Amino acid sequence: MDLSFIINQLGEDREQYFNAIAPPIMQSSNFAFKSVGEMRDLLRDEYKGFLYTRGNNPTIDILRKKLAALDGAEDALIFGSGAAAIFAAVLSQVQQGDHIVSVRDPYNWAGQLFTSILPRFGVTTTFVDGTDTANFRNALQPNTRLIYLESPNSFTFELQDIAAVAALAKEKGIVTMIDNSYCTPIFQRPHELGIDLCLQSATKFISGHSDTMAGVLTGREEMIRKIFMSELLNIGSGIAPFNAWLLLRGLRTLEIRLERSAASTKTICEWLKEQPEIERVIFPMDPGFPQYELAKKQMHGAAGLITIQLKVERREQVEAFCNGLQRFLMAVSWGGHESLAFPACASLAENEFDPAIPKHRMVRLYIGLEEPGVLISDLAQALGAIN
Ligand SMILES: *Cc1c(COP(=O)(O)O)cnc(C)c1O
Repeated sequence: MDLSFIINQLGEDREQYFNAIAPPIMQSSNFAFKSVGEMRDLLRDEYKGFLYTRGNNPTIDILRKKLAALDGAEDALIFGSGAAAIFAAVLSQVQQGDHIVSVRDPYNWAGQLFTSILPRFGVTTTFVDGTDTANFRNALQPNTRLIYLESPNSFTFELQDIAAVAALAKEKGIVTMIDNSYCTPIFQRPHELGIDLCLQSATKFISGHSDTMAGVLTGREEMIRKIFMSELLNIGSGIAPFNAWLLLRGLRTLEIRLERSAASTKTICEWLKEQPEIERVIFPMDPGFPQYELAKKQMHGAAGLITIQLKVERREQVEAFCNGLQRFLMAVSWGGHESLAFPACASLAENEFDPAIPKHRMVRLYIGLEEPGVLISDLAQALGAIN
C-alpha cells in the first residue's frame, strides 16, 4: 500500500480547483446539467456522478477514493456516523425470516439494532463468544445470511480469528461484516483476510480531532453500489461536505497520530502493570493478553484504548480515581488528540455496582497525543486519591 500517495494525492484533481493544495468544500446540495441527455444518464445511475449531495458530492468523492484505497477495497461509502454505516450495511444484507450471527457485546448501537429493531421485521440474531471460531459454526442456521464481527471489541478487546471466520462464511455462502474502528486499516486489513464489508466509525481515528461524526463502509463495487442505490439514498444518512473535508484533513496525519498514540499506550501500559491499585491491565498488544498470539498474527499494531481493572471494594473508590484525573477528560468516544477516561460504572445505577463483577471496576482509558510523562503523572496522582 502506498500510504503517502493515498493520503496526499489519490482522488485530488487539483487542476480542477486552481491547483489549491487543500480541496474545496463543495457546499452545494445540487448539481446542474447542460442537456436532458446528461441529466437522464445520471438519474438512471447516480452512483458514479454528481446529481444531488444526498448521494455524492466532489468533496465526499475524494474521501471515498482515499478510504477505499486505505482498506484495499474497490469502493467506500461515507455516512453521517458509524452507527448509520452499521444500520445501512446490516439492513442491506437481510430480509424477513433471515438470521444473523453476531459476536457477543458488539458496539452498543449495533447490539440495539440486532435486539430491538430487526426482530420487528422478522430478523433474528444469535450472539456468540467470538474467541472460539467453533461457536460461529455451531450457531449457523439454514437461514443465516450474515456474520457480524468486531475485532477487537472496544472495551475489553476480545478478538475473533478473522481469516478463520471468513473462510467458514465463504464455505457456507454467508456475507461477513466487521467493525474495524479500533484498528483502522493502518493496523488491520480485514478485506485481505476475506471479509466482505468493513466499517469504521470515522468519528474516532480517521477524524482524530473530536470535531466531526462519520462512518465509512468499504467493499467490492457490486456490493457498495447496491447499498448506495438503496440504503444510503433512502435512509439519507450521508455526510455533509464540510464534515467530509474535516475527515480529509484528519486523514493527512492518521498514521503519525496512530504511531504517537501507540508508542505512548505501550509506555503507559507497562507503567500501569506495576501499580498496586490496579488488578489487571487489558491491552491486545500486551504479552499478558489472553489472545496475544492471535493479535500479533492478524493486527499490525494497536493504539489508544487500554482498560484497567481497579483493585477496589467500593464504587466511590472508582469514582475518586476518575474524578481525580486532571489531564484525562471524562467522556465517551475516543480517537481524538485528547486523552479520555470512561468508567464502566457510569453506565450503571449507583446501587447496581457489584465489586464481584470485574467489569464494574473497569475504567477504559484512551491515550491521546499528550506527553506520556504528563499522562503518567496524572494517573499516579488520581490513583493516590483512592482510599
Ligand atoms: C463509536 C463507535 C461506533 C459508532 O460510531 P459513531 O460514529 O459514534 O456513530 C461503532 N463502533 C465502534 C467500535 C465505536 O467505537
